[in-house]
Amino acid sequence: MDYQAVLEEVADRARPLVRQGRVADYIPALERVSPDRFGIALTDIHGETYGVGDWEVPFSVQSISKAFSLALVLAQEDQSIWKRVGREPSGTPFNSLVQLEWEQGIPRNPFLNSGALVVTDRLQTLTGDASTALLDFMREESGNPELSFDQAVAGSEAEHGNRNAALAHFMASFGNLENPVPSVIEHYFWQCSIEMSCRDLATAGGFLARHGLRADGTRLLHARDAKRMNAVMLTCGTYDAAGEFAYRVGLPAKSGVGGGIVAVVPGRCTLCVWSPGLDARGNSVAGAAALDHFTTLTGWSVF
Ligand code: GLN
Repeated sequence: MDYQAVLEEVADRARPLVRQGRVADYIPALERVSPDRFGIALTDIHGETYGVGDWEVPFSVQSISKAFSLALVLAQEDQSIWKRVGREPSGTPFNSLVQLEWEQGIPRNPFLNSGALVVTDRLQTLTGDASTALLDFMREESGNPELSFDQAVAGSEAEHGNRNAALAHFMASFGNLENPVPSVIEHYFWQCSIEMSCRDLATAGGFLARHGLRADGTRLLHARDAKRMNAVMLTCGTYDAAGEFAYRVGLPAKSGVGGGIVAVVPGRCTLCVWSPGLDARGNSVAGAAALDHFTTLTGWSVF
């Protein structure tokens, strides 16, 4: 497979959709990102990376961090996180509160904000510094020691963080947080604010395509946990549009409101696409279209 040629064709087809949708505007620091950006990168299971467009430009990873913090928790302890968070699609927006009351403070899945707060809480207990643990992991797996937090985004998240604080307090009232709410939301905001490029993310997500093996060949996750993570990404990774995304793209994926989407072809490669214009559910319009073209051109969906 000539990956470079495939990515170029995918980019040509997706580019007319760049500028469609809306750049995330829930915090001022994200609103300033240019809607013209488009990049796509692919890292094969041997660590070889290919890219097109703005594939080396850093952007805010936002909810893509949720997949990586879950992986870190699963790497450190077996299955206990699943007592505190489910793995069913929610059908509700990523920052929704409604199901939490019916379901006694147990979030539907780890990729909702509520679920990710529980995962961050656990990572905080396990490491003593959840956001630094995640940043260190991202640096190692991407091979880019320069990665850092975007201070402006983290500050803006905290300033406009009432909804996430509400989710955390609500879960704490059900006894589903181990650490104080202010510390959990702070680490969650820092995690969301990590800046990475498509190249960095495609490389860092390689373990999901390598059935749990890290870039250096050591094992991060049991193969069964890599399989399970990919399953939860497929069913819950693109918010309440996961059904539509599986229908169109057919790959495990995790999106973020920074406009990035990481997608996995198990056993072959990991992709990351970025374009900031979002649809109503918070997924990149041109990004989803690019992945749709990718699986159509290659025939590489999981179905
Ligand atoms: N920082 C965002 C929030 O907590 C992340 C959400 C996302 O990317 N969907 O609202």
